[in-house]
Amino acid sequence: MSHPQRVTVLGATGSIGTSTLDVIARHPERYQVFALTAHTSRETLLSQCIEHRPAIAVLAQEEDAQWLRSALRQARVATEVAVGEQALVDVAQDSSVDIVMAAIVGAAGLLPALAAASAGKRVLLANKEALVMSGALFMQAVETAQATLLPIDSEHNAIYQCLPSEHRGGLDRHGISQLLLTASGGPFRTWPREALATVTPEQACAHPNWSMGRKISVDSATLMNKGLELIEACWLFDAAPEQIQVVVHPQSVIHSMAAYHDGSVLAQLGNPDMRTPIAYGLAWPERIDAGVAALDLFQVARLDFEAPDEARFPCLRLAREAMQQGGTAPAILNAANEVAVEAFLAKRLGFNAISDVVAAVLNDQAAEPAHHLDIVLNADQHARRAAQQWVKHYTG
Ligand code: NAD
Ligand code: MG
Repeated sequence: MSHPQRVTVLGATGSIGTSTLDVIARHPERYQVFALTAHTSRETLLSQCIEHRPAIAVLAQEEDAQWLRSALRQARVATEVAVGEQALVDVAQDSSVDIVMAAIVGAAGLLPALAAASAGKRVLLANKEALVMSGALFMQAVETAQATLLPIDSEHNAIYQCLPSEHRGGLDRHGISQLLLTASGGPFRTWPREALATVTPEQACAHPNWSMGRKISVDSATLMNKGLELIEACWLFDAAPEQIQVVVHPQSVIHSMAAYHDGSVLAQLGNPDMRTPIAYGLAWPERIDAGVAALDLFQVARLDFEAPDEARFPCLRLAREAMQQGGTAPAILNAANEVAVEAFLAKRLGFNAISDVVAAVLNDQAAEPAHHLDIVLNADQHARRAAQQWVKHYTG
């Protein structure tokens, strides 16, 4: 390798962002940080700048940026500090960048991730909401700019590893009959629906196997995360929703599988640690150390599987139906879910009402063909306003 690969980490201070910097720090000869971004976590961003010396750091607000500039001056770090959404897009598409880790949570990550794809970067996609909202446009941008899109979501990374290299143009062409998307089932896998009515954000965020940001933790508890991942898999692997089976696997050791027409099922296994898919994406097609402990199968001892229960966890069904409906339906689903999850985390909405809000918004708002980004962003805004109203309704 001639020069170290230059990396922008969008959402550097989050769970995926910090794991990414952990892997990068293990390979200083391979990777050099170009830009780090955060929403409001200025202290964390400061210590990351001191350690990784990026050219640019980005925050959402001018006040935080001023604080960071003066702290960096005191620490004698020459990082330039930029502010706002356009700055996120700029560091994602900068001509000196090779790799962009898209790890902002939610719809806020769409424009910078799309900018990275349109600029032909190697895009490590953790921000599944971007693909859920604008899958067709995103995949088109990747194709047009000849970007390299590598899924970081552990399930999609696993499937990617189980597919033939250079796969494109549908599953059938490669002799694949089905993708098996594994799900831990979340912290409430065995709970009756009535008991779910009173669960708290703290309970929902205590995931049995993975340590993650709060929004995705709640999504894992409602199974909306698996619904979003089903949509994500349809776009990434050119699959129909019917070709994807969700398999609840409480140990989270098999990260997903591909079933072939000859009866073979290929699986990728590993400890539940996001540094594995992150290192895979950074180094692909090579393999590097991720700092992850070797899998001890004797300690794992057993692997269990069960069917998901869509009566207790309706979000999975809602997501599948939105994908079947197509157009802006997945963007509407995603926007309503973001609003409902935020209200749940703020203790304004009950856990079971999250799916009620999403269902109500999808029912009210007609999906349109998603030919342009503006149409997607309008549908997103419209669904957010409707979801706020439904949150009020369910809060009573
Ligand atoms: P997190 O909440 O821990 O981190 C989110 C990051 O995005 C932070 O750096 C935050 O500052 C930034 N951010 C938040 N809102 C922003 C905004 N409006 N504008 C700009 N930046 C903003 O989230 P996470 O768990 O790291 O997840 C990040 C993404 O990766 C999500 O889309 C999630 O679904 C996906 N993902 C996460 C995991 C995991 O294990 N954590 C696994 C698979 C996929
Ligand atoms: Mg996942």
